[in-house]
Amino acid sequence: MNTREQLHALNEELRRLKAEGRRTVSVSEEALATLRASLADEPEEEALGGGVPSPREAPAFVSAREPEPAFTPRVAEPDPVPAKPAAPAAAATFMLPDGDKASRWSALREIVLADKVCNEHVHPGKKIVFGVGSIDASIMFVGEAPGGDEEIQGEPFVGRAGQLLNRMIKAMGLERSEVYIGNILNWRPEMGGRNADGSQTGNRPPTSEEMAYCLPFIRAQIAIIQPKVLVALGKTAVDGLLGFERFKSMGAARGVWHQYADTPLRATYHPSYLLRQEGLTSASAKKIKRDAWEDLLAVMERAGVPISEKQRNYFL
Ligand code: URA
Repeated sequence: MNTREQLHALNEELRRLKAEGRRTVSVSEEALATLRASLADEPEEEALGGGVPSPREAPAFVSAREPEPAFTPRVAEPDPVPAKPAAPAAAATFMLPDGDKASRWSALREIVLADKVCNEHVHPGKKIVFGVGSIDASIMFVGEAPGGDEEIQGEPFVGRAGQLLNRMIKAMGLERSEVYIGNILNWRPEMGGRNADGSQTGNRPPTSEEMAYCLPFIRAQIAIIQPKVLVALGKTAVDGLLGFERFKSMGAARGVWHQYADTPLRATYHPSYLLRQEGLTSASAKKIKRDAWEDLLAVMERAGVPISEKQRNYFL
C-alpha cells in the first residue's frame, strides 16, 4: 500500500471508531513517528487525497474542514496483539480445473483454504471461512465477513447473526442446507486490539483492499453454484457485488431487482442490523423488519419457492 492508501485505511478505522462513540485512540510513539515520517515523504497534494480519485473523502484527521481532531492521540503501552499483515494489494488469482460442479467447488475450497494471503490474515488457531450449503441451491446469500464464532468453526453465519439468518431461511420454508451461504471476505476483519479481559475487540468492516482481494473467491462460488437468485446481506455485500459505493445506503439499494452478471440480485438488511431492531417497537424498527421480509418474499417469488398466505402476512 502506498501512503495515501494507508491513510485511507487508517481514516476508515478512525471513522468507524468515532461512529462507535470512541473519542480517543492509543497510538505508540513509534507509530506516530512512522506516520510523521511517511507524511513528510509524501507530496502534499497526494497526502491530502488530491490527484488520485478516492472512493471516499479525504482523511478526516487531515481535513481543513474538521474543526477539531476526531481523536486525541496519547502515548500508550505497546499493543500486545502482534502486528497485522499489510492489506493485500490486488485481487486473488487462481486457476480452477475443469470438471463437474462438485469437483470445481471442492477445488475452489482447497484453493481458498490454502491461500497465502488469507492464511496471513487468519488469527492463530482460527480458520479461513469458505461458503457452505447446497451447490445446487436456487438461492445464494452473500454476507460481509466472518465474525468470532465463524472463524472458530470455519463456517459462515454460525453466530447470533447466523441464528437469525437460519430463522429467516426457515420462515421462507427452506432449510439452511438447501441454500448456499458465502461471504465477501474469507477472514475475520477484527480490530486488532484487546478488551480488558484479554478477549479480542470486535469486528470492523472489511477495507476496500481486503474486499478486492477476496472478491474473486465469492465470484467463483457464484459462477459454480449458478443460483437463480442472489441475496446481498448488507451494504458490504452490495458494494462487493454491485460496485463499491454505487449505492449510498441500504435504503437506496433495497426494494428493487439488480443484476449481478446474469443473476438477479436482491439487497436486504444484514441480519446483524436486524438483530439490533429486535424487541424495538418503534415505527421505523417495524418498517425495517417488514421491509426485510418483503425482500425475502420477492426472492422466494423469483426463485419459484411457494408462498403461503401465512407467509405473506408474516413479520420478521
Ligand atoms: N456476518 C457476516 O456477514 N458473515 C458471517 O459469516 C457472520 C456474520
